[in-house]
Amino acid sequence: MSTRELLMIPGPVEYLPEVLQAVGERSGSHVGREFIARFGCALKGLREIFRGRFAQPLVLAGSGTLAMELAAANLVEPDDEVLVVNTGYFSDRMGLLLERHGARVTHLRPATLGEVPPLGEIDAALAMRGRYKLVTVTQVDTSTGVLAPVEAIARRARAHGALILVDAVCAAAGEELRQDDWGLDAVVTASQKALGVPPGLAIASIGPRALEVHRARRSPVRAFYCDWSHWLAVHQAYERGELAYFATPPLNLINALQTSVGQILAEGMEKRATRHRRMAQALRAAWRALQLEAVPRREAQMAHTMSALYYPAGLDSSLLTRISEEGVVVAGGLHPALKARYFRVGHMGAVGAQEILATAGAVGTALAKMGARVDPSAAVAAAEEALERSE
Ligand code: PMP
Repeated sequence: MSTRELLMIPGPVEYLPEVLQAVGERSGSHVGREFIARFGCALKGLREIFRGRFAQPLVLAGSGTLAMELAAANLVEPDDEVLVVNTGYFSDRMGLLLERHGARVTHLRPATLGEVPPLGEIDAALAMRGRYKLVTVTQVDTSTGVLAPVEAIARRARAHGALILVDAVCAAAGEELRQDDWGLDAVVTASQKALGVPPGLAIASIGPRALEVHRARRSPVRAFYCDWSHWLAVHQAYERGELAYFATPPLNLINALQTSVGQILAEGMEKRATRHRRMAQALRAAWRALQLEAVPRREAQMAHTMSALYYPAGLDSSLLTRISEEGVVVAGGLHPALKARYFRVGHMGAVGAQEILATAGAVGTALAKMGARVDPSAAVAAAEEALERSE
């Protein structure tokens, strides 16, 4: 185990031993009292994580894309107008799947990748009151590392009578997120990122207005498995501790989710967001010391769950192999327009000072070994100093 590489990609992440142990436990019957109690407990915990007391959490087998697709399938009907506030590859994906469900999608893109479309432009796009039924935003777009101002965008969507759907796959349980206070109608995520559970769970939290829009649909949801009606009924039963069946749940992952949710709430949501901010700031200090330029153009729009960094001039993805030789696994680029020019580092979930310093050291050493004129120990010292300052 000591020779194991440290996984620092933007999901999947390193998991706590208790969570992995829960995956391996004998899981029993999916309609047994014990499992239903654990599922109910996980759902109640998710309400606190999303800060969505009035929303209904849903957890089903699948990945984040399925959670996105369920929102699209249940919230839009043919010819509904949707505005995608686009900050990267996953906003593009949201647009594609909404179109597949019949929506007319308008993308509002920033002038340059690595930015968020200005709020004034969002206002202007929304000015035709009633045109858009739904506005979507990716809280952290994993292809660019851009953090969108979800609260401000949601306020604008609501003021114009549109629903707001948030892709929080790379944000929930890492970035600050307040579903009730910010008026978010639907938030979707997945297990393998800041929630700290192996991949395989599509997770959503559906607010009252979204439930109402779903209930009032003119046409049925076109995919049986995707219809929220089935899922709402079983999840509400689980939360009441009642046995229910729609489709066999992924028991071992849900047991792991219940364990992870317990750990997250024991830390507390404020403290967890603060820890993610501290870790991100420490890494930013290291990146500055290493003269690495971030894809997001403004500090306020940089994610706290991950970093997206341009390769220094003359270097390419062979840097990733060098970093892994130093014991840390980071990820290559994803956005097609930038793919070969940048790499990504995940810092979410259970990350602490040890992982941050190891990552700063590994990236610095790999850069130096590839001929960049940087001092790895200065990068580690800069991160250490930032951590001490923020204690
Ligand atoms: N949205 C965002 C912001 C993501 O980061 C991802 C996964 N990287 C997805 C959606 C899709 O999730 P999945 O890969 O679990 O389907």
